[in-house]
Amino acid sequence: MQYWDGDDMATTDDGSNGMTEPCEVCGVETLHEVSVQIVTEGGTGENARYSREPYRVRECQRCGNRESQRMNNA
Ligand SMILES: [Zn+2]
Repeated sequence: MQYWDGDDMATTDDGSNGMTEPCEVCGVETLHEVSVQIVTEGGTGENARYSREPYRVRECQRCGNRESQRMNNA
């Protein structure tokens, strides 16, 4: 790809910023900033316990559309 400042070389997981992915709003592949957020979910109903779930958050660098997607479907 492009020249990249190697300032995040120590990052362990594959959460590298700057992914080219299709954007629903733009309708084309655009550069997205991708990060992982740990979201604390309050349990409701029978399993009333809190869990911390990683969400993959991506933000289109062209239109600013943000999408978050839960990484664990358990
Ligand atoms: Zn977009």
